[in-house]
Amino acid sequence: MTHKTDVAVIGGGIIGLSTAYRLTQRFPEKRVLILEKESELAIHQTGRNSGVLHSGIYYKPGSLRAVNCREGKLAMQAFCEAEGVAYDVCGKVIVAVDDSELSRLQHIFERGEANGVRCEMIDAERLKELEPHVRGIQAIHVPEAGIVDYVGVCEKLAEKIRAGGGEILTNAKVTRITERSDSVIVESDAGDVEAACLVNCAGLYSDRVTKMTGQKRPAKIVPFRGEYYKLKPDAQHLCRNLIYPVPDPAFPFLGVHFTRMVLGGVECGPNAVLAFAREGYSKFHVNPRDLFESLTYPGFLRLAMRHWKMGCGEMWRSFSKGAFVKALRRLLPEIRKEQLVPSPSGVRAQALLRDGSLADDFLIQDSDRIVNVCNAPSPAATAALNIGRIIVDKLAERF
Ligand SMILES: Cc1cc2nc3c(=O)[nH]c(=O)nc-3n(C[C@H](O)[C@H](O)[C@H](O)COP(=O)(O)OP(=O)(O)OC[C@H]3O[C@@H](n4cnc5c(N)ncnc54)[C@H](O)[C@@H]3O)c2cc1C
Repeated sequence: MTHKTDVAVIGGGIIGLSTAYRLTQRFPEKRVLILEKESELAIHQTGRNSGVLHSGIYYKPGSLRAVNCREGKLAMQAFCEAEGVAYDVCGKVIVAVDDSELSRLQHIFERGEANGVRCEMIDAERLKELEPHVRGIQAIHVPEAGIVDYVGVCEKLAEKIRAGGGEILTNAKVTRITERSDSVIVESDAGDVEAACLVNCAGLYSDRVTKMTGQKRPAKIVPFRGEYYKLKPDAQHLCRNLIYPVPDPAFPFLGVHFTRMVLGGVECGPNAVLAFAREGYSKFHVNPRDLFESLTYPGFLRLAMRHWKMGCGEMWRSFSKGAFVKALRRLLPEIRKEQLVPSPSGVRAQALLRDGSLADDFLIQDSDRIVNVCNAPSPAATAALNIGRIIVDKLAERF
């Protein structure tokens, strides 16, 4: 069966759903169709993330991440408020535990100010008032950071898309794309689609789908698994809200933290290890093609050679609960091993350039009829409604 539509969107994660939602809001007369390979929506990065509403404090001023995070967060809060999705602007602390971290903490604080984030440098005494069990010598308090139910957001987005006349096809893995002068033909497990325009929001597969569209992919996706533990109920009082370490500028996504989840519980983690499959949520899940591609990609080999020590540390924490707990104790010294139980892991779509550097900003590229979201790392969930708006701006030029 061939479906006809104005805009086809590949991927039913938060970026694909936000794009389709923005489209139905702005152009109610346009037909939109989402193709999702799974039987459910939002079960990959979006459904397995930390559930944090990021404030935008970390990102380079003027970058797409900084701008979209600020605007997207406000839009996300307004959406949750209007649609009754759980969220809480509970605040967060970024904690320096020794002198060596103070200059980096200062740098983040200055970035936060440059990005217009409401934040305050606080001393150890004030930190104790906010998070009584944390050890630290200085910290940044970010009252406007928060937590949210991203799966709940996606359920509402899907509801609104359908109510606006949009269609969502599940079990519809896209296998081939042909761009013609007057349309794009998308072949999928659920039939073919003829669309005037196509948007690729395939997350962990965004590079392969970009290649299918005939465009050059700017970076390759290498999957990194983040493993989490959660605190048993008797230890949850140790973390009131969000407790983060000072990040290493070279690896901002590294460094275990504590996150109170909006639907209850406290998660601790993640570490970051190479996943042997793009959707490899367990240590033993291996996909030979995915693994071969990662291990033979010059970008990954360069990264691994440069940072093998750090990589070994992350792997060690994957196998040793004791080592994981030791990392957590830097921030919360009272935590004991028996207070932690494993929690579901997530896999990050890390876009890597051939020279081994991480592509850290959002990356969207387009041709006549196709928009490819090539990189949508954290805080893309926070920023999703704004990313969706930008994509619709691009589509509007083609209508
Ligand atoms: C461990 C972890 C923690 C994070 N924490 C946060 C956080 O606290 N706050 C925050 O803002 N961000 C966070 N992020 C980042 C955020 O979750 C992602 O940036 C965001 O979810 C990306 O959404 P997406 O729609 O691009 O990808 P996804 O959610 O992965 O969705 C892509 C979809 O495309 C589908 N798909 C792929 N290929 C095909 C195909 N060929 N045909 C059809 N469908 C296809 C997939 O099945 C999937 O459903 C985190 C990420 C991870 C991994």
